[in-house]
Amino acid sequence: MAEYDYDVLVIGAGPGGYVAAIRAAQLGLKTACAESRETLGGTCLNVGCIPSKALLHGSELFEELADGTLAKFGIVTDNARVDVAKLQSEKATAVKELTGGIEYLFKKNKVTWLKGRAAFEDAHTIKVGDETVTAKNVVIATGSSVTPLPGVAVDNEAGIVVDSTGALALDRVPQHLVVIGGGVIGLELGSVWRRLGAKVTVVEFLDQLLPGMDGEVRKEAAKLFKKQGMELRLSTKVTGVTVKGKKATLTLEPAAGGDSETLEADCVLVAIGRRPNTEGLNLDAIGLKPNDRGQIETDEDFATSVDGVWAIGDVIPGPMLAHKAEDEGVAVAENIAGQTGIVNHAVIPSVVYTMPEIAGVGLTEEAAKEAGHEIKVGKFPMMANSRAKTNRDTDGFVKVVADAKTDRVLGVWMIASVAGTMIAQAAQAMEFGATSEDIAYTCHAHPTHSEALKEAAMAVQGKPIHI
Ligand code: FAD
Ligand code: NAD
Repeated sequence: MAEYDYDVLVIGAGPGGYVAAIRAAQLGLKTACAESRETLGGTCLNVGCIPSKALLHGSELFEELADGTLAKFGIVTDNARVDVAKLQSEKATAVKELTGGIEYLFKKNKVTWLKGRAAFEDAHTIKVGDETVTAKNVVIATGSSVTPLPGVAVDNEAGIVVDSTGALALDRVPQHLVVIGGGVIGLELGSVWRRLGAKVTVVEFLDQLLPGMDGEVRKEAAKLFKKQGMELRLSTKVTGVTVKGKKATLTLEPAAGGDSETLEADCVLVAIGRRPNTEGLNLDAIGLKPNDRGQIETDEDFATSVDGVWAIGDVIPGPMLAHKAEDEGVAVAENIAGQTGIVNHAVIPSVVYTMPEIAGVGLTEEAAKEAGHEIKVGKFPMMANSRAKTNRDTDGFVKVVADAKTDRVLGVWMIASVAGTMIAQAAQAMEFGATSEDIAYTCHAHPTHSEALKEAAMAVQGKPIHI
């Protein structure tokens, strides 16, 4: 009889966990995945990446109609209106198809789904619901949850003060949506409801939106969101929210302190970050202590300090992104199988799926300087890109940050309608150790938005063609 029920038990079936489970099974390991949600796919598929992108897509189509973009191309529809229930049902269909797809992949790869919450009894014994199973290796892939704002009670059912899950499920277009937090969620979901007709005010504690992104990109993003009609209250903090009937009253204060003021809204979205899920895992039983940010620390192979226990995804340090979790899922399974699974954390692209999209990979200009690099920067405006001109989507620019001595690309940042697609090329180039010259001398198809990346790379040497 085998010593353990499973070679690998993965806790959590988000993009980290389900990918780890599938790859482990592909490598011939007997694998189970514990998931307490009714459907597989974690935050990303159920209440994150996928539903938000469905609403972003639908609302973008509406805005193209409502703001006259389609009319410019001769497509005229009078009396356009939004059917929120239909939009939500199309979103639900996409989610159902994709979560069902993971269930299919589990069956195909012979991954056993153990339904229920998992908690450690010891490093190799885990209780999942009422069942107790043993595994030689356990991968913690429990993801993250919304960070609460002290003194602000979220009630997604009532739909007045909501978190991202509630904001993805609204059955009405709010009149005034106040978003607390000018990060990725606030701007994506703020954009959805603004496009559909809400007045949107974003209250951000810092003096600029989108912390962690390149400084010029952050400034340009703020300019564009304002142009689109979002009201931005930077350097401002929310100190309280009270709800009376269907109205919320927020108390705001300057971040640096000072007189408070109030703001009325019929919907408030709390989007101030996410925190790792470790509660209820009974980590004490295996002597594993999260760090002071609540994350589980691992070595570069994703092994924790406890033999046979591994961790990946949002629950460990690093950007909370689905593709980072997925790549770690592949790598951890390969490491468990005795192979060499590696994730290059220096090259993880990030994308904000607004219109235009905002994307970056590698070091920002500020971080490159701080790291001691002497740098050269090349920039190219989308206004001078022929495809953007043709499509009438000329907002934004591409920026390449290269090492002045070696010309090696250190980072690429961009705002462009299809930046989320364009950034893949930059990531691949950086993964291959490209110089700006390598990108500049790579033939790019014409007319494409991607030519702006080539031109920004040419601009590093001061020789772009089209500006
Ligand atoms: P999760 O996806 O959080 O999955 C963890 C799973 O573990 C959950 O299903 C949970 O139920 C389960 N679980 C937890 N504890 C237990 C337990 N004890 N027992 C059993 N099961 C347990 N990222 C992007 O890259 N692109 C995007 O466009 C994007 N959009 C987003 C939009 C929103 C609104 C949100 C909230 C997030 C978005 N993200 C996006 C972030 C992305 O969703 C996360 O980075 C990603 O889901 C992390 O994957 P994970 O596998 O680590 O964890
Ligand atoms: P975030 O960290 O991106 O932004 C939170 C913002 O809230 C920050 O700008 C912060 O300064 C601000 N803030 C914090 N406390 C505040 C306060 N009291 N008052 C006002 N502002 C305050 O977090 P998020 O937008 O909640 O997103 C959570 C995570 O989900 C992110 O780490 C992100 O990686 C991930 N996500 C990714 C995508 C994507 O890849 N497109 C989309 C959505 C979410």
